[in-house]
Amino acid sequence: MVKLEKVEKYFNRYKSNQIHAINSTTLKFENTGLVAILGNSGSGKTTLLNVIGGLDKPDKGKIYIGDKKITNIRNSKLDKIRNLNVGYVFQNYYLLNHLTVFENVSLVLRMLGVKKKEEINERVNNVLKMVGMYPYKNRLSSMLSGGQKQRVAIARAIVKNPNIIIADEPTGNLDSKNSIEIMEILKTISKKKLVILVTHEQKLADMYASRIIKIVDGKVVSDENNSNAHENISYENKNYNEESILNKDFNKRNASLYNPINMITSGVKRICNYSILKKILLIGFLISAMSIVYSVSSILGIINVKDEQFVTTNKNYLKLTTTRNNVTDYLKYEKLPFIKYMLPGDSNLDFTMPCPDYYQTTSAKITLHTSVVDSKEITNSDIIMGEMPKKNTEVVLDKMIIDDILEKSTTKNLGITNYEELIGREILAGDEYLVDSMESRNQTTLPAFKIVGIVDKKSPSIYLAKDNFINLFSIYKIDEQDYSRPPESTINLVDYKLVEDEIEIVEGSLPVNDYEIIVSNQYKDQFELDETIEQTVNGKELKVVGYYESSTEKDENYSNENTIKYQYIEERNNIAIYPENSEEAMKYFSDKDIKIESVYEKDRNEYIAKMKPQIIATIAVSGVILLISLLEIFLLIRSSFLSRKKEVGILRAIGVKKTDIYKMFLGEILSISIFISLPGILIMSFIVNKLAATSFFLDKLVMNSLVIIISIVIVFVFNILIGLLPVHHTLRKRPAQILTENSVD
Ligand code: ADP
Ligand code: MG
Repeated sequence: MVKLEKVEKYFNRYKSNQIHAINSTTLKFENTGLVAILGNSGSGKTTLLNVIGGLDKPDKGKIYIGDKKITNIRNSKLDKIRNLNVGYVFQNYYLLNHLTVFENVSLVLRMLGVKKKEEINERVNNVLKMVGMYPYKNRLSSMLSGGQKQRVAIARAIVKNPNIIIADEPTGNLDSKNSIEIMEILKTISKKKLVILVTHEQKLADMYASRIIKIVDGKVVSDENNSNAHENISYENKNYNEESILNKDFNKRNASLYNPINMITSGVKRICNYSILKKILLIGFLISAMSIVYSVSSILGIINVKDEQFVTTNKNYLKLTTTRNNVTDYLKYEKLPFIKYMLPGDSNLDFTMPCPDYYQTTSAKITLHTSVVDSKEITNSDIIMGEMPKKNTEVVLDKMIIDDILEKSTTKNLGITNYEELIGREILAGDEYLVDSMESRNQTTLPAFKIVGIVDKKSPSIYLAKDNFINLFSIYKIDEQDYSRPPESTINLVDYKLVEDEIEIVEGSLPVNDYEIIVSNQYKDQFELDETIEQTVNGKELKVVGYYESSTEKDENYSNENTIKYQYIEERNNIAIYPENSEEAMKYFSDKDIKIESVYEKDRNEYIAKMKPQIIATIAVSGVILLISLLEIFLLIRSSFLSRKKEVGILRAIGVKKTDIYKMFLGEILSISIFISLPGILIMSFIVNKLAATSFFLDKLVMNSLVIIISIVIVFVFNILIGLLPVHHTLRKRPAQILTENSVD
């Protein structure tokens, strides 16, 4: 039983073009019979039928199907009621064209939770036999004639054994022979069920309807039983068992069409059935996924500044900025508990590795740029090859420097390719030019150092005994920029301990005390013994305490190490601090308003500042590529969905739940994402990985799991969001509305 109480429906309400499509209609329908709703075109028949069938909502009034009210209830509840109770037949058939006859009909049973294949087969075959479409069961519905389509539509409507069939001008598009057959099928059904038929053909209504309701401008103007109808209709089809269809009920429930697995498999199936053109468009998903990987990789590549790109100094050093080093302060700082040791200026120093491996290469040399660190700062566990230094002349190099050496063309030409070949080699302090010029000027040098081990602490450091530092820096550090007071102390001092074997005092004594120097015997006329000279160190005048003669004919001024240290302190701006506790050191000097900073941080910030224009450009370019890719996905999905809106309308009209429609599209989008976008991501990751290893892209691209994960997340989230957005937009509308907006067949 169906009941309408004072139902009202307007279109364009409160607007100038308002239409009162259903005007205060109260009706009651019995459980069986063929009721014709008759009226001119535009009189409101379809609207009335749609509100009865739950395809549209009235603005006012109540509608009952059986004992259930279908007005003012939740959509999901309405869907359930109409899924279980109402079968639909439309003028335009509304079959799903990509499905076969059998599939169109069996879909309805799947919506009702029928899982058993035999049960589905039996019921579907029976209804198809009843409407005479059994021979065509495997044909695609798009291949059928109008009359055949309408028979399939009727089969689809009755296969679920509904209580009510609503049919909106089912013969509107058919010739008279087919019209009569369709009407006879409906008449047969109406013996057991309520069939509400909308038509504008008085003749058809007179011939078949048991009751005729006439409508004019949305109002019922007459409602009469029709005793003239053909009761003994001639439609006979011996091949079906009417009982099994219209009487034998089955276990119905409002079920979901999809689970996660068949959601994907049917998605894949649909993609496989895409037209050639649409399949070609799918390449767009592949390309955009690939571009997204490239963008993500280059953005991460440029943001992720690698140490190798800027570090020149051991990470632990702090830089104390001073405009004028003062020996007293320096010595005071040196004693602070949170400072391990200090160096005037900075810790950077070049070394030279001679490579006299072959006769032809006796003069080949390689310069190493290093940061000098006390060998006490490494332990045996840091050594990745070789051993800890045992003597003052033994050194350990960081792998970073070793890698640098192996990169050099000189090394490559010599065929030196592995770390072992570098252990045991000797290196000289000073870059290759300084080493050459000191040799030619017969100046005192430090003995060669021997590489005994390699550590991997990711900074370009050389580890050697701290005892060497003062001589090392004072002799070899030629860095113009760091000189603060060049002219004042021009006298070049060398530690007399380095030459003790070579010299002999001819008069006076060795310069064992601070501020004492000895000069070559040949200058004894210019410098008087025990007299000060004009040069000062730490404010003290230097005193000549002896004359020497050198077996190597050197011509240098010697003093003790302290004097050299004080002189070196004074000559330099800034102090490199190797802290015991970095935070305390930073705090101590900050409190004194002396600028102190981590050399690493400073170098890093400077590098980033220098790179900023390039970083911005890369992000902009990658961002644009990213946006274009996303736009491409958007357009692909949109164009694909526009052609599917009608399908959504049909599915909604025949009672498919919204969630099932979401799942259907989700299945498709996931299939595209998994089988097209994901391979695109993986292919591009592989390509970028290869590219990132080339020198051109070295600092521009990165490839790691983060890039892949971010790309996958972007692609999947975007595919799904953009894919479901139009679906969501359409599903907000009532089924009738979707269909009227997309009714072009
Ligand atoms: P019938 O089925 O009798 O031809 P309808 O029920 O389709 O008539 O339409 C009744 C009236 O409501 C018509 O004037 C029609 O133009 C109008 N109408 C129907 N659907 C809409 C809609 N979605 N928006 C605005 N007007 C509509
Ligand atoms: Mg109509």
